[in-house]
Amino acid sequence: MSKINLYNTLTKKIEPFVPNVEGKVNLYTCGPTVYHFAHIGNLRSYIMEDVLEKTLRYVGYDVKRVMNITDVGHLSSDADSGEDKMLMGAKREHKSVMEIAAFYRDAFFSDCAKLNIKTPDVVEPATNCIPEFIHMIETLIEKGYAYVAGGNVYFDTSKLDNYYVLSNQNEEELMVGARDDVEEDSNKRSKTDFVLWFTKSKFDDQELKWDSPWGVGYPGWHIECSAISIKHLGEHLDIHCGGIDNVFPHHTNEIAQSEAYLGHKWCNYWFHVLHLNDSTGKMSKSKGDFLTVSLLESKGYDPLVYRMFCLQSHYRKPLLFNYEVLDNVKAAYEKLKKKVASLDKEGELQPEKMNPYQEAFVQAIGNDINTSQALTVVYDVLKADMNDASKFALIEQFDQVLSLDLTLEKQEDTVDEDLAAYVEEKIAQRKAARKEKDFAKADAIRQELLDKGIEIKDTREGTTWNLL
Ligand code: AMP
Ligand code: ZN
Repeated sequence: MSKINLYNTLTKKIEPFVPNVEGKVNLYTCGPTVYHFAHIGNLRSYIMEDVLEKTLRYVGYDVKRVMNITDVGHLSSDADSGEDKMLMGAKREHKSVMEIAAFYRDAFFSDCAKLNIKTPDVVEPATNCIPEFIHMIETLIEKGYAYVAGGNVYFDTSKLDNYYVLSNQNEEELMVGARDDVEEDSNKRSKTDFVLWFTKSKFDDQELKWDSPWGVGYPGWHIECSAISIKHLGEHLDIHCGGIDNVFPHHTNEIAQSEAYLGHKWCNYWFHVLHLNDSTGKMSKSKGDFLTVSLLESKGYDPLVYRMFCLQSHYRKPLLFNYEVLDNVKAAYEKLKKKVASLDKEGELQPEKMNPYQEAFVQAIGNDINTSQALTVVYDVLKADMNDASKFALIEQFDQVLSLDLTLEKQEDTVDEDLAAYVEEKIAQRKAARKEKDFAKADAIRQELLDKGIEIKDTREGTTWNLL
């Protein structure tokens, strides 16, 4: 019997979720491209995927979740044109690609920790799996699904009966939005063919290259998720997650190459999170200006307020970010935490009174991850006719999925007001020094703060600081 229902992008329906092997779930998540900080839009996807994973565990499944780290091959268009994003990051910061990858990978997991996003069971950087990519590409060539042209290896989409199985839209529609810039590649037999391995490209300065049967080069972006998923989760995947922009071309191409390679259906359920937008449209790293968790923190928001902001909306609806709403959520979150903290934890539990709420919670969260309804159950518990100990126990249980730290006592802020005033004053002095082009003084102020264990960061929205 199914325990939860999920919307499946593949069938465009809400379906009872039934895994391949009873009691076990294989879950794959497209990981971040680590050329910059994750913006809070990216993190919306990871928060909602975290709730999905925790829901599956909560209802009793044994979940294995794998995530890749994209540290090579993702070009500035999601297709095969533009520059490698990692290289863009390295040039921007005058560092090597691997330095950039390590830095932003750590930054990503630090953001995830602040948002109570569980680290997947397996995290695999693409650059660790070159032999697996080469093996998969060799097999695709042997089976007649891939060809070499102009030095690159391409997947031949004309060999498939239904390349658009996931997206079900017409080609023109899909190309718009997926690509920042559309460049024709004359080596491709059809427009939708995509690169599996690059040897000839316009990026002679591509830093990371590997030997392959087709010459020295590097993998395309799409092959990494297929190969990493199959490596760790086998030939049958239960659920594949990502943001909605991944449907085409990324996931469409993943299905094409995985099923051509395996010779059978690969993944049963596709879970896509709609975008977080700001007033100018979809939030994206390439736009330059974007909101990060650190920025929210520097403005005084607990990252979990942002998690609650996300949970108040359904993952299949676009979400508009604005500070007014965030302020309301902040007030609601603080009130909720206070209310839970005031509950008297001592006393006998009342299972018969708790039961209907436990059922209501599973009903809500199991109804295609309806997080706002699940939050409503938390409020219902607080108003319910039962003793405090039972209320507390229920909220503690529900928080295994919501992960809002509802039953944890808030730690007193370690930053006192005098310190904050001192740092703000120093930041203002440094800003003035920089304005007068007195960079030596500006650097000295930064160092003075560092010596006191205070780190400052210049972001597009201003200078932020934190204790080391
Ligand atoms: P990237 O680091 O660009 O590879 O993206 C990481 C994840 O964030 C992918 O699953 C994207 O689909 C997702 N994503 C990108 N932009 C947004 C957005 N504005 N809102 C929600 N998810 C997003
Ligand atoms: Zn992927």
